[in-house]
Amino acid sequence: MKTYNIALIKGDGIGPEIIQEAVKVLDTVSSTFDFNLKYNELLMGGCAYEQTGDPLPDDTIQGALASDAVLFGAIGGYQWDTLPREKRPESGLLRFRKALGVYANLRPAIVYDELLQASTIKSEIVRGVDIMVVRELIGGIYFGEPKGKDDNRGYNTMVYTRQEIERIAHQAFKIAQTRKKRVCSVDKANVLDVSQLWRDVVTEISRQYPDVELSHMYVDNAAMQLVRDPKQFDVILTGNIFGDILSDEASMICGSIGLLPSASVGADIGVYEPIHGSAPDIAGQGIANPIATISSAAMMLRYALNEQAAADAIDCAVKLALKDGYRTKDLAEFDAKQVCSTKEIGTIIAGYISKCKH
Ligand code: NAD
Repeated sequence: MKTYNIALIKGDGIGPEIIQEAVKVLDTVSSTFDFNLKYNELLMGGCAYEQTGDPLPDDTIQGALASDAVLFGAIGGYQWDTLPREKRPESGLLRFRKALGVYANLRPAIVYDELLQASTIKSEIVRGVDIMVVRELIGGIYFGEPKGKDDNRGYNTMVYTRQEIERIAHQAFKIAQTRKKRVCSVDKANVLDVSQLWRDVVTEISRQYPDVELSHMYVDNAAMQLVRDPKQFDVILTGNIFGDILSDEASMICGSIGLLPSASVGADIGVYEPIHGSAPDIAGQGIANPIATISSAAMMLRYALNEQAAADAIDCAVKLALKDGYRTKDLAEFDAKQVCSTKEIGTIIAGYISKCKH
């Protein structure tokens, strides 16, 4: 029987609660589909800072690199917000992504028919939305030098190299080939030189994918178009900061930030994580929605472990649970038959796996 080594990073806030439910569902699919998952728990974030003085201990990088994939909860919390920047959990996360070379963040935003009412946008506008945001993850303004701050001036640098744009563009075009074959590249080329290079290079790369239609859009227009007519998008290709913002916007189209998974992939190891943060405002209350993390586990099975049937079974189990009216508190007002705790919905989704074995 195949055995896969999974690095588990629970992190802070609701991280441990949502990872526990993803593991529950993973354990069910692994026994249903006959493979083994071996977990190696690694420290990162505020909890790692408390124990080691570093939000990203070296052991965590080594452990992650030695695994087949990383399943990640979330990091951060108010109590660490006043630390020097390099000690803050968020700095650990950026260093972690860089160390693993995960340059492409794939963020699907799919509207479930069962949750049409949960969207803040009219049902007829969002029904059938199926967008993949392909966000560059280890370049751009979050990493550019120089950067700094004194009492009177703060500054960051947005920089992209040709090579960084080329590799993320290839990812987006390849993904589009498996979907509706449309890429919309989002930038701010009317103002930023870095965006003009982005646009030029994406256009060049597109010539290698004649079956995929490329369009360009300024980020301010894209933010507006996403709520005006989200169905016009198939793959959105964009840089680090624009992708960060647009994918949170896309999450509300779908109903709750607690629903959206992501995969961060690169040369070798992928990191699979919900798009939301550690939600300190609801941590420890047992009300967090674990579906984004459970769906991230499905992406891990699909992209990292090539266990397609098991991944499909998780997606199917999530849909059935929602169809049958099981909701966590964030979605309680939308046709809930039963409002569930984090643990309860995890157990319910795990329970549907056997019905989803095809
Ligand atoms: P957040 O995503 O943690 O929370 C935003 C809002 O969404 C909150 O009201 C929260 O309760 C709600 N929410 C988030 N996830 C939910 C879930 N699964 N179920 C139900 N409700 C959910 O963003 P924030 O409040 O801006 O940040 C909180 C902390 O998380 C900060 O320290 C931030 O730096 C960190 N953060 C971490 C990551 C990560 O680990 N990848 C990403 C974003 C933010």
